[in-house]
Amino acid sequence: MVVKTSSFVTEIPLRTTSKDLAVLAARLESARQLYNAVLSEGKNRLQLVRDSELYQQARLMNKNDKKAKSTAFQKAREAKRFSDYDLQAFANKTAIASVWIKSNLDAQTIQKVATRAFKAIERMAFGKAKKVRFKQKGQFASLEGKTNKQGIRWTGNGVEWSKLKLSAIITNDPVILHGLSSKVKYVRLVRRILNQKTYWFAQLICEGEPYQKPKNIIGDCTVGIDLGVSTVAIVGDEKTIWTTFAVELASPQKKIRKLQRQMDRQRRANNPDNFNPNGTVKKGSKRWNKSNHYKKTAAKKGEIERKQAAHRKSLHGKLVNQTLALGKHIKTEKISVKAWQKNCGKSIGFKSPSSFQSEIKRKAENAGGTVLMFSTHKTALSQTCLCGNKQKKSLSQRVHHCSVCGLKMQRDILSAYLSRYVDPKTETLSIQLARNGWLGMEKSLLDGWQNGSNQPARTATCSKSPVSNNGLERVSSNLIAREESEPVRVNETRSVS
Ligand SMILES: [Zn+2]
Repeated sequence: MVVKTSSFVTEIPLRTTSKDLAVLAARLESARQLYNAVLSEGKNRLQLVRDSELYQQARLMNKNDKKAKSTAFQKAREAKRFSDYDLQAFANKTAIASVWIKSNLDAQTIQKVATRAFKAIERMAFGKAKKVRFKQKGQFASLEGKTNKQGIRWTGNGVEWSKLKLSAIITNDPVILHGLSSKVKYVRLVRRILNQKTYWFAQLICEGEPYQKPKNIIGDCTVGIDLGVSTVAIVGDEKTIWTTFAVELASPQKKIRKLQRQMDRQRRANNPDNFNPNGTVKKGSKRWNKSNHYKKTAAKKGEIERKQAAHRKSLHGKLVNQTLALGKHIKTEKISVKAWQKNCGKSIGFKSPSSFQSEIKRKAENAGGTVLMFSTHKTALSQTCLCGNKQKKSLSQRVHHCSVCGLKMQRDILSAYLSRYVDPKTETLSIQLARNGWLGMEKSLLDGWQNGSNQPARTATCSKSPVSNNGLERVSSNLIAREESEPVRVNETRSVS
């Protein structure tokens, strides 16, 4: 009897050569074909069970006698050899008969493929799934062992699987370290295609409880931030956050403008002598008569502004805490409110990006962190690709898609990622370090992109911002474009149309 213990998954990226990739691809394809064969056989056996006398008799039994009824169903299944165990035996025979499958897969992996197919059929049999699906090429992306003793095994610093040895990329992430210090029950290999490239990950099924992250603790890692007019991208070692920047503040702004216009009308009505016939204010000293209505409107406006400032402070504070949870060593572009206003109008100042930046600086430095605010002129991160290619992007281009290397990434997230690799002394980007870090980080960046795209729609605040219609952003166009905030130095960029 197998004792069930709680388990959790630790995922670690693996290094693969092109030769490794070819071997893994062949093994995955063998497993896929085997899966489909077992699925087909299992479906047939289930049908035989259902057509059988024993099954029909079991159906008619009194449902109050649960135990007897279940035993009768069990007998019907056994008669047609429909069980996990029987399908494992079938899978093994099929693999041996094909020679090629057997040469690619070990006994444990074969058994697990069979179990996976059996479970899919069971879900259908119990009405939890409408039908079973045969896996097309590309739809079958994982393989797993049964124990960590045979077949696919974790060695402590990588995966071994009959002649194949893959080393793992291990970071100092506490989540990973916790997993590595736990007992490994078995290993699953997962293939992922990111940016048209194939990566393999080891998922260690570990015994015990997953790592509990201490709450509100300040991380020790480096965090890159890309602060835009409506979105902010925050990239730490373990996590990428791509979210809206204070867009909730948009709606009171309309009310304020309405009140301002009302105040203006009231002032004109109360002080006709202070205005020229063309509507402009007369020069020279004058007395302003403030009516009670005017004072009331002004008070209303003041109250909205006070509320908004409090709201803004809380939104900023939340973002600051989220950022510091990832790390206290902050790297970000010095933002220019003037450049924001040039693109989006004066009203954008109400978001107070500079107060956000000073808040994060204050809190990070209090916690013993460092803050680097580098100049956008030197780095031009929004135009830089990981491959070194510099390419000017238009405002509407929300996704960085390099014409040289093909890299695809949401532009704010890419900028935030690159910020992490800006040298504090020279204030220039170390592209080599950025490249080295990419493989371990890409999944987290893509996750951040995906999560940001799934956020509920909110109001846009920058009227000139184009609504994005690229890549994942199509899911919801709520994360409105960030305006280009840095002036472009012509000799640094190469325009590609
Ligand atoms: Zn590139």
